[in-house]
Amino acid sequence: MLTIALSKGRILEQTLPLLKKAGLNISSEELGSRKLVLNTNLDDVKVIILRASDVPVFVQHGTADIGVSGKDVLLEHGGLGLFELLDLKIAKCRLMVAARDESDLNQSTLKIATKYINSTKHYFQSKGRQVEVIKLSGAMELAPIVGLANCIVDLVDTGNTLKANGLTALDHIYDISSRLIVNSASFNTKHNEINRWIARIEENL
Ligand code: AMP
Repeated sequence: MLTIALSKGRILEQTLPLLKKAGLNISSEELGSRKLVLNTNLDDVKVIILRASDVPVFVQHGTADIGVSGKDVLLEHGGLGLFELLDLKIAKCRLMVAARDESDLNQSTLKIATKYINSTKHYFQSKGRQVEVIKLSGAMELAPIVGLANCIVDLVDTGNTLKANGLTALDHIYDISSRLIVNSASFNTKHNEINRWIARIEENL
């Protein structure tokens, strides 16, 4: 039995066609149900649907053998207990620093609102900047407008969300895409099965 963890939303939408090309199909009835454990066309493969930040946690603990996770989420998780084996090159975006303008970054201690605590601390530490990081779970764009922070660190795709809130992307931190991850113990115990899936997915990228 193989369990694959996927996250709701754009990663799920963009991963399903890849899995289908590799021979794994989930019926629209299963997808349309409110079930969190989905059956596939193969008796020995199940798919579980999770919040994005929970995918590496389930894979780390072996509850799922394989997962598809954004690099943003993996950078925050740290990668313990799992291998990142394939860049699926989907759900691409950039992790960026954004503010109203460049002058907002000229503070001796920069106040930054983000949900990407580890990536943010790591980036500003590497620049030798002193920062105060404020953890938010969403609507980061609001923070500079209401004076909660000088800038934000968030994912940027088209830039429309920033623009709509009077913010500009100023510094690039990381290019993000979804990665195929594998539980390190499963990679040993189910080596052939997992490698077969990786090869099939890679062939169809
Ligand atoms: P955009 O307005 O196109 O720049 O999209 C920015 C919004 O979409 C932000 O709220 C991001 O958190 C979210 N977003 C963009 N790309 C991704 C992605 N690949 N994965 C998850 N969230 C994303």
